Amino acid sequence: MNKKVAFITGITGQDGSYLAELLLAKGYQVHGLKRRASSLNTSRIDHIYQDPHQQDLPLFLHYGDMSDSLALCGLLQKIQPDEIYHLAAQSHVAVSFEAAEYTANVVALGTIRLLEAVRLSGLNCRFFQAATSEMYGKVTSLMQNEDTPFRPCSPYAIAKVGAYWTTVNYREAYGLFAVNGIMFNHESPRRGETFVTRKITRALAAIALGQQQCLYLGNLDARRDWGFAADYMDAAWRMLQQDTPSDFVIATGVQHTVREFLQCCAASLGISLSFSGSGLTEIATVLHCDPARTPALQPGAVILRIDPRYLRPSEVPSLCGDATRARTVLGWQPATDFTALCQMMMAHDLAQAKRQALLEANGYAR
Ligand code: NDP
Repeated sequence: MNKKVAFITGITGQDGSYLAELLLAKGYQVHGLKRRASSLNTSRIDHIYQDPHQQDLPLFLHYGDMSDSLALCGLLQKIQPDEIYHLAAQSHVAVSFEAAEYTANVVALGTIRLLEAVRLSGLNCRFFQAATSEMYGKVTSLMQNEDTPFRPCSPYAIAKVGAYWTTVNYREAYGLFAVNGIMFNHESPRRGETFVTRKITRALAAIALGQQQCLYLGNLDARRDWGFAADYMDAAWRMLQQDTPSDFVIATGVQHTVREFLQCCAASLGISLSFSGSGLTEIATVLHCDPARTPALQPGAVILRIDPRYLRPSEVPSLCGDATRARTVLGWQPATDFTALCQMMMAHDLAQAKRQALLEANGYAR
């Protein structure tokens, strides 16, 4: 039997790397869109990318960009995918306030470009679009499902609402098997370093080793529903295996504040924290720590302060997903809970910080 062929935009990102692993394990031939950059940007997939001179490569990378319709058309004609997973985006909410037009171009117009390329190529393929819980924005319902109205409040979320409705429109207007996965926050050791979860785990690792004194964050009260990225890519794959196309919320249904994420990660290092002050004056102080595990840290050390620069012009206060449909129709449920996620990310970043310290101590790194 011929291998199924998948095309992943955003293959070099967090989700793309887990999805590529999953599809390769299922026997797919995987093609990924890679942006040209002045330095290598394939670190998340280097472990699965083989020497292109070998025969029967299951993984191919192609240069292109979501702003380049002609390249997208050409690639689809060449690759002839059975399934397209559209993950490429300027995916950072805070950055979208500084680069609003670019975000709209890549996210909203980029999705139109790709769907038009599918339509014009006459391809009979299935299409997954990475939608986001940020589209709910300033919603007031406690939990959000597929019927909850959107109230986006960032350029990123507004662009994603455009991508969402474009996907629905191509499904309804052209009969395309095109679906939105409305994914709540999902993290992993491969999460970009500037996202709050990864910023926390990297900083805690550095603080634990005495390489950094203090971590600066914005809104500790933001409530999010955090899952593990690999679980969410499993849901994306399941969505394209259904008989009929429809949109699904992908979430854990459990909510935590940023403060709780920090506490849980610290706890996995044997550190307990005490929070005092409020708003911009809030700080976190080390209450207890294990001298065997964190010899550089003393009780009483202030390891967190608030920096107003990290507050957004418009905040999404609370998101929590109701993934009942995904559970019942897709048979999907997250395999990794909040504590396991924090422990996994913390362990990874601690190991990475130790490796870096070792290299530096032996004169192999700056
Ligand atoms: P990342 O930021 O880790 O990855 C984004 C990917 O898009 C990278 O491969 C990046 O390439 C690529 N990309 C960015 N701009 C362009 C462009 N102009 N042309 C081509 N490729 C581009 O995001 P995640 O993996 O975390 O997220 C995947 C998708 O899921 C995104 O669409 C995101 O918005 C969405 N999403 C993510 C959630 C999450 O919590 N992670 C929640 C809900 C939705 P490069 O490596 O070169 O930068």
